Amino acid sequence: MPSITIIGAGPGGYIAAFEAARRGASVTLVEKANLGGTCLNWGCIPTKTLKSSAEALEMASRLEEFGIKADSEEAVGFKAYMPSIIARKERVRQVLCGGLEKACASLKIRVLRGAAELAADRTVLVHSEDGTEEIKSDKIIIATGSSILNLPSLPIDHKHIIDSNDALNLAYVPEKMVVVGGGVIGCELAFIYRAFGSSVTIVEGLDRLLPVPSVDADMSRLLQREAKKHRIKVELAKTVKSVEIIDGKVSCEIGPSPFVEGAKGKDSTIEADVVLVAIGRTPNTNGLNLAKAGVETDQRGWIKADQGMRTSAEGIYAIGDVLGPSRIMLAHVASAEALCAVDNCFGAEKELDYTVIPAGIFTSPEIGTVGMSEAEAVSKNIEIRSQTFQFRELGKAQAMGKLPGMFKIICEKESGKILGAHIAGAHATDLIAEAALAIEKGLTAADVAHTIHAHPTLAEGLFEVCEGWLRGC
Ligand code: FAD
Repeated sequence: MPSITIIGAGPGGYIAAFEAARRGASVTLVEKANLGGTCLNWGCIPTKTLKSSAEALEMASRLEEFGIKADSEEAVGFKAYMPSIIARKERVRQVLCGGLEKACASLKIRVLRGAAELAADRTVLVHSEDGTEEIKSDKIIIATGSSILNLPSLPIDHKHIIDSNDALNLAYVPEKMVVVGGGVIGCELAFIYRAFGSSVTIVEGLDRLLPVPSVDADMSRLLQREAKKHRIKVELAKTVKSVEIIDGKVSCEIGPSPFVEGAKGKDSTIEADVVLVAIGRTPNTNGLNLAKAGVETDQRGWIKADQGMRTSAEGIYAIGDVLGPSRIMLAHVASAEALCAVDNCFGAEKELDYTVIPAGIFTSPEIGTVGMSEAEAVSKNIEIRSQTFQFRELGKAQAMGKLPGMFKIICEKESGKILGAHIAGAHATDLIAEAALAIEKGLTAADVAHTIHAHPTLAEGLFEVCEGWLRGC
């Protein structure tokens, strides 16, 4: 059985450790911070915990609509109380971190606390307060993830100009917030803080929200409409040119984006209490000494690996965010890559297929996507026909009072094979799983339309959109 050293205990590293240990390998898992990585401590779970608080507050403000009234005459109001929201987030985080510690112990994984560095001959040096330990193993898996990207023009001071980590620990709800970056993280936090009561402006350098090829343009348009309904101001094709802190407020100078050809408009100034910078991520490779071990990176420092997660160095694999945006930087992708890398550590010749990767975007409403967007299908010269179905037509959506949203499928024109599915609406991030299975198994719109779906459920939306596709309307 191989001995395997895994660097980084995020959803890439800990899944690799679990799998390798279950298969009998001797596993050392090195982590310099908390088990769970970005996902559990600063990403997926903390943001979704805050989002649950935001949803609870939104629902509280609609109680009368559902016939729920206070049993006293006194006015009842609700507001976001950040210390309690953050305390709840911490409790959730700790429960899940504790679960990982227990799982490592029961699988007899050696967890080593410290910062790892590579040396020659498959050796890892782990530096901690107790000194440096040298570990030699048959295989090494690098799963060190990514960190927040900073721009010199937007210097983070963690008070007025903050990053996503700070936004998950704010002690108060800022009156005015500018969010720089209309990608997934920026949009999620913008909707959360708007629900908490902040007046929010999103500044996005490209010409739509969620400007990634895998997100269908219809979803971006819908989200922009919803942002408007929530009174979130969206400045597209604009960038923040400079920021200045004057009397405890941030003055942001925004102007036409250099990233959009022909972007127009005059420079203007927005004043905010807090500017949240959410512009991207950078690889966690500093101090790893990759060159010493012969592990190559691309020009931006992301580790190069093949579809089997093999790096340029024999016996050294890399998985997860540290591979960069050319792969998809999501927790479940890191975990899938982990399983592939472990298989290959055990002598397999696996390659990961990235064509069917579902993604959840936790805005209000949520968005779930899988497979191709319409633009991607068109760029590949595939003859397609798309179909949409509105959320408000579902009985369950009406009963829940969750009307905004749509289902969209993109199918091969002749065969009806589903190539992409995009859902915006309540629970869209859960609903997308059925579409992912359908695409993974090569199913057609007819296959889904001929599957009986329970009534009344939101899942009927996928059935309806497929039925509509068959009828051609
Ligand atoms: P990470 O989770 O970053 O873990 C890497 C670990 O390596 C860290 O614990 C780090 O301390 C450790 N490490 C680094 N260098 C060393 C070293 N030299 N020695 C020892 N240890 C080291 N993804 C989703 O799928 N769904 C979401 O809803 C979602 N929401 C997100 C929200 C936010 C605000 C952010 C920032 C990210 C979100 N993500 C989400 C992305 C997700 O968090 C990442 O894709 C995922 O965590 C990547 O996993 P990983 O194992 O590659 O790296």
